[in-house]
Formats: sequence, C-alpha cells, structure tokens
Amino acid sequence: MNRIERNHLLKEWIFKRSAYSMALAIIDIDKQTVAPSGGNAYRDERAAFLAGELFSIETDESMLPVLEEMQNDEEEEPYLRRAAFLYQKEMRKTLCIPKDEFVALEELKSVSYTKWLEAKRNNDYTIFEPYLKKIIEAKKKVYAYRNDTKDLYDQMLDDFEPGMNQEKYDVFFNALKEKLVPLIQKVTEAKQIDDHFLFEEYPVEEQKKFMDHLLQYLHFDPQWGYQNETEHPFTSWTCENDCRTTTKYLVDNVMSAIFSTVHEVGHAYYEHDCDPRFDGMILSDGISSGMHESQSRLCENYLGRRKSFWEYNYPYLQKQFPQQLKDISLDTFMKAVNVSRPSLVRTEADELTYPMHILVRYEIEKGLFNGSISVEGLDQTWADMYEKYLGVRPVNASEGILQDVHWSCGEFGYFPTYALGSAFAAQFVKKMQEEIAVDDLLSNNHYDTVIEWLKKNIHQYGCMYDADEIMQKATGASFDVNVYIEYLTRKYTELYDL
Ligand code: ZN
Repeated sequence: MNRIERNHLLKEWIFKRSAYSMALAIIDIDKQTVAPSGGNAYRDERAAFLAGELFSIETDESMLPVLEEMQNDEEEEPYLRRAAFLYQKEMRKTLCIPKDEFVALEELKSVSYTKWLEAKRNNDYTIFEPYLKKIIEAKKKVYAYRNDTKDLYDQMLDDFEPGMNQEKYDVFFNALKEKLVPLIQKVTEAKQIDDHFLFEEYPVEEQKKFMDHLLQYLHFDPQWGYQNETEHPFTSWTCENDCRTTTKYLVDNVMSAIFSTVHEVGHAYYEHDCDPRFDGMILSDGISSGMHESQSRLCENYLGRRKSFWEYNYPYLQKQFPQQLKDISLDTFMKAVNVSRPSLVRTEADELTYPMHILVRYEIEKGLFNGSISVEGLDQTWADMYEKYLGVRPVNASEGILQDVHWSCGEFGYFPTYALGSAFAAQFVKKMQEEIAVDDLLSNNHYDTVIEWLKKNIHQYGCMYDADEIMQKATGASFDVNVYIEYLTRKYTELYDL
C-alpha cells in the first residue's frame, strides 16, 4: 500500500467514526438536558443502533494493517503515528474478546446498573451484592483474553491512567494516608468555620444572572461553548469548536452551581484547546482520566477557591444577593468556601477530605481483585474504613457503599484517577505561579491568560504524550505527591489556625 492510499483510508475511517460520535454525543447531551422523557424508548433504540454501527467501524479489523504500517513509517507525521498507535491499542483491547462474551458483559452491566439503582432506593446492599460479584467475575474473564502477564488490577488501573499501577498508587495513597488522616483529625477538632450563610435561600433565577457574569469572567466563549442544566453535571465535546457543559442549581446552596461550572469549564478548555489538527481524532480526548480531572480541579479548587478570583467576582455575587451577603466580608466568604468537614458522600466532599474517599475505594478495589476483601458484607467493610480514615460512619447503604454508580457499570480502576488529578493540579499550579502572576491576573479579569498557560503547557498536546511526559514538559520534574500534601497542609493549617 502506498502512503497516499494508506492515509486516505485512515482519513476516511476517522471521518466516519467522528460523524457517528458527533451524532451520538448530541443525542446524549440532548437526552440529559432538555429532551422530553416521553421520547426515551424510541430515542434509546435508535441511539443503540447508531452505537452498534459505530462499534463496527471502531473494531474494523481491516484497519489493523493500516495502523500498523502508519506507526512504523518513520517519515510520517509524528502526530499521525501517535494516533495510529493509540487507535491500535484501543482496538486490540476490544478485538481480543469473543463477541458473545462482549455482548454478555454489556447485558450484565445493564442489569447490574438497574439492580444498583433498586438497591440504592431501597437502601439495601444485599440486592446489589450478587450482581457486584457477577460483574467482578465477568471482568476477570474478559481481561483474561488479553493474555497480559501483568496483574489484573494493574491492567485496569492502566486503562484509565496509562503508566500507573498498584506499586505507584500505593506510594501515593500511603503518603496521603500518613499525612492527611492526622491533619483531618486536627481540623475536625479545631474551631469550626461558620458557613451557614451559603446555605440560605438563593433563588435560582438570581443565581442564573450571576452565572452569566461568571461565564464571561471564565471567557467561556459562546462561539465554541454552551452551558445547559442537568441532574449530574458533565462536559461533552461534540465537534470542532462546539463544547457543551452543564451545571445544576440548588436553591439552598449557592456555591454548588458556581463550582460545578468552574470545574466543567476546566474540562471544556482541555479538549477545546488541543492542537486543531487533532480535532475529531483520538488525540483530542485528553491523555488520561487523571489528567482530565487535573484540569477541571485546577480550575475549581486552585483558581476558583482563591482569594484573588473572588476579589474580582465577590462584589458581583454580593450585588446579586444583597440580603444574604451584605454583612459578609470577603474574608469571611473565603473561609466559608474553603471549609473542610468530613462527610459521607464523595461528590459533596471538600478539597481536604476528598482524597480519603478515594483511598477507601482504592483499598477496596485492590482487595476485591487480590482476594483479601470479599463482596459479602462489603457494606460493613466500607463503613469501617470511613470510620478509620474520616471519622464518620454511614448508617445506611445509600450514603455508604451504594452512593457511586461506577462499580455497577464494571468500572474498576477509575476512582484513583480522581485523587491523582488533584495532585497533578497542585504541581502544575506551583510551576504556573513561578511563571505568571496568577493572583494579579485573576483579580484583574484575566482568567483567559491563566488558561493560556495551561494551553501552552498541557492542553495543546492532547494525547500526543503520556501524562508523565506532560508533567515533565510542563514542570521540569516527574510527578511528586509531596507538592500536593504540602499545599493541603499549608492551606488548612492557616485556615484553621492549627
Ligand atoms: Zn470532572
């Protein structure tokens, strides 16, 4: 095959994939935001058909030699060679599984999700327990087809965060455990910060007016971005220069929609700002779950909870809510938005206690796959760990083991990336502060210049390099958990006068 022919084949294949992906993304966004639920059954059937078509294209074996050749062609553009490598890696993982096994797993996931929902509603872990067991067995079976000599859970971890394994995560989580558990305990025993004023009544219509201002401040440009409302906020890239984010308004929690917006817009920038040559290709996705989450958390926690961010924005918020905030100074407000308080639910956790929620899930997943933890009675194991690491104990399963959807969908190895993302972000921010005047920029309405730094050092690369290479390029060092620990320790020691 000559190069022109080969590149044409690849281009066509990528084009077809991206067309189906775009259609499916828009259908899904529409469903999760504004589509009338009456259309669900019809819509789901058609969407499933399209997804099947897309799957056939994605796993088209005739593309394997094309990808192979492209990768080995030293005169080819490096980004095309990298794309070929990533496509091939992805395809091989799926193709090794016999089709009937693949379909059976998809069906099991769907039943297991329904059972999880039922269990959560009824507050009864025993409804979900047998399905959790089945799904773990099924995952073991499909991974076995890969014939990979690596440990099973290591393979799962690597799927979400290429290059990571239990050895590295153990170092990471042990450091967090050693340093953060005592810190959290000190914070819990310290004089508590008053934040009740953030939970008064904040009419949603007024919150939306502030949101218009905030989106402008974030330079979330209507030319390429649009925000909707949804139950569980997410961000989705649909096509070139079209990125959708979502948020959720709570009348009795004014910061919820604000921080979810800053977070989601952080995800949006990551995919929007990659090299335009990558659009529509695997290279535009973001290199790993941890790296994606590092960008959203960097925006939410390291920029959005910073005083300089609010030096500019707080007067607008006060103006929108004069009754609720007129007597609240910026300093009082800043303390309140940074409160730390151990809680039971991961998605509501603060910056300091959050990684402990992930630690619990990591230790359980590890134990489930090496046989040291059993599915039976796992709700109690979970509760014991919460008590040990966070000092709180769930009394019911829906606030305990049943709170997250991930395991019901067979996603094991994903959770650790959430904590890793926060830690990556700490290291990026440290370097960023050495290079640009972050606080001056934020307090003077130049959020876009801060994002520019991220674009130059991280976003533009898309999936061109692995996470550790990006860390090296951006900060000149490899990943170091201590930067994150130092950041949290300094921040909460000051905040709580420890
Ligand atoms: Zn996120």
